Amino acid sequence: MKGVTVGNFFDFADELGPLKVIHVHEPSIGLQGVLVVDNVAKGPSIGGVRMAPDVTTEECARLARAMTFKNAAAGLPHGGGKAVLVGDPKMPKEQKAMLIRGLACALREVEQYIFAPDMGTDEECMAWVKDEIDRVVALPREVGGIPLDEIGATGFGLSHVVDVALDFCDFDIKGARFAVQGFGAVGKHVTNFLSMNGAIPVAVCDSAGTIHNPDGLDVKKLLALKDAGKSVTDYPNGNKLDTDAIIDIECDIWIPAARPDVIHEDNVNRLNTKMVIEGANIPITHGAEKILHEKGILCVPDFIANAGGVICAAMEYQGASQSAAFSTIEEKLRRNTREVLETAKRDQILPREASLVLARKRVDRAMSFRRWNLF
Ligand code: NAD
Repeated sequence: MKGVTVGNFFDFADELGPLKVIHVHEPSIGLQGVLVVDNVAKGPSIGGVRMAPDVTTEECARLARAMTFKNAAAGLPHGGGKAVLVGDPKMPKEQKAMLIRGLACALREVEQYIFAPDMGTDEECMAWVKDEIDRVVALPREVGGIPLDEIGATGFGLSHVVDVALDFCDFDIKGARFAVQGFGAVGKHVTNFLSMNGAIPVAVCDSAGTIHNPDGLDVKKLLALKDAGKSVTDYPNGNKLDTDAIIDIECDIWIPAARPDVIHEDNVNRLNTKMVIEGANIPITHGAEKILHEKGILCVPDFIANAGGVICAAMEYQGASQSAAFSTIEEKLRRNTREVLETAKRDQILPREASLVLARKRVDRAMSFRRWNLF
């Protein structure tokens, strides 16, 4: 079977979930997708819809679990879920709208899942979902939303995570050199926020390649290129390298903001940095995180670091304003980052282990209140 690989449900099921795995297939419009609702003990699940040509059920299940922990760690009244759609996100708009609307209609009855954007989908896609089923967050302003990608909710949160993590390192934000893998909704904004705080972007990449200048890149020029539909490699003053070269860039802070599993045991030693802040979901394998830890490279895991977007989305769902969402992101992410890094230091464990303890405690307690965790 092409497209979404149908994995064995029981290969990844455990005591937390997943509660449901739903495969959606409508050949007449080329719709192939998967929804994984992982755990709803804390409330209906929120998680983004990812569109990419090579998504799999397993990736979807892992991302849904990451959402369970992310939402729990962030103290939100929501469980974790995720949806994936097979397709090139740059397909013609009418075709994309058809697929997104088709997925929304197919999942109309699944009240345990609230749609949100992820890689390959955006606020406009969420507006199409609202038009069909109305159970969606991260909408455009015009239909009552807080456009989290437009305002950079996740990038804003990441900049606060960096700020707290610096208390556990030996360098300052002013003049710190950083590299960002992926220059989309997350990558662009974290680059902008960190630059505003005095850090220097020395390399960024997108799917077309990497641009590197050890003296620093001009963020406004990079943003203008992306707004014009170009690649960061069209930036004039820098070395153009291939996409993968971003891994080797010498810097103080390295931020993955693209695909899963980009850093693994076989390439982790290429990283030449002091701090890794996981903007993407599951960008680094557990084995590679362990190696980073052993080398003294501080790594803040995905579900703690990149929760800004989902906090914003959950606040929108409750009818809060944009400024309330921003101050909640700041408060929650600073508190969680400090707690996780202090626990990791005190107990001599990986930050991911400390994060899991924090999140798991919250999910277990929520589950203890339930007769079943089905509704
Ligand atoms: P996006 O689609 O807006 O941007 C992705 C960027 O990555 C693009 O610049 C693309 O060119 C680049 N890219 C794609 N494949 C690549 C590759 N193989 N190597 C290098 N770059 C590549 O997506 P986004 O919303 O910025 O999300 C990025 C990551 O952050 C995803 O893992 C997503 O799950 C995670 N995330 C996003 C949010 C959010 O608020 N958008 C919140 C939390 C986590």
